[in-house]
Amino acid sequence: MSRTLFAANWKMHHGPAAGRALVRAVLARCRPQEGRELLFFPPAPSLPAVVEEAKGRRDVAVGVQNVHWEAKGAFTGEVSAGIAAEAGATWALVGHSERRHKFRETDEQTGKKVVAAFAAGLSPMLCVGELIEERRAGRTEEVVLRQLAAGLGGLDAAATARVVIAYEPVWAIGTGVNATPADAAAVHHTIRAWLQSRTPPASRATVLYGGSVSPANAAALLAEEEIDGFLVGGASLEAESWLSILATPRPSR
Ligand code: PEP
Repeated sequence: MSRTLFAANWKMHHGPAAGRALVRAVLARCRPQEGRELLFFPPAPSLPAVVEEAKGRRDVAVGVQNVHWEAKGAFTGEVSAGIAAEAGATWALVGHSERRHKFRETDEQTGKKVVAAFAAGLSPMLCVGELIEERRAGRTEEVVLRQLAAGLGGLDAAATARVVIAYEPVWAIGTGVNATPADAAAVHHTIRAWLQSRTPPASRATVLYGGSVSPANAAALLAEEEIDGFLVGGASLEAESWLSILATPRPSR
């Protein structure tokens, strides 16, 4: 059975106390399940509290929402992958659309961040996705493949196979409008085919969907064989909606 990954991106919400309380509430009602992994991406200062709260749960990991590509230096306000690892992170989000579009992060920078994450022992999750005008212009595939090529360009085949990809159409993030399961699956198929030609033959890429995932649409999305789980923002911020998404049954593959 392939892995199913549910990742919570808290964005700029939940300091250490609120983060700890949420993880405690969620884990108390969510027992480990074969093949299912949970990931929390809190704001950086909340990492140690969340890590401590998740201690002892082998199905749960914690990641940082962004890293700088340099290991250290005069970069006020930035967090290196090594510092995040020391604070307990084992994953790093790279190239989230809010980083790309609100902070003008470039394709080239995402590539350097993926390399830096690996160098510090973090597992990178690379986010890719098109703007609404790019979709309307029929450029979804071109944009997503360009972001993949740049984000993974610094890796060999074995490392490429270890990167989890989150397909997040920008127009679906935080809007309440999700991609249809069929549309998401079509882009996932394109991503997987691109990865297959660049990774060892036996490897199967893990490709998540993100963009207004909710308790109401999670089952239909996860029913798609191409979708290995979710990266969720808004609906991961409180226990009830997140628990409901975590309980989504995934048809056995
Ligand atoms: C996200 O932040 O990655 C995201 C998908 O947000 P939302 O679920 O709120 O659309």
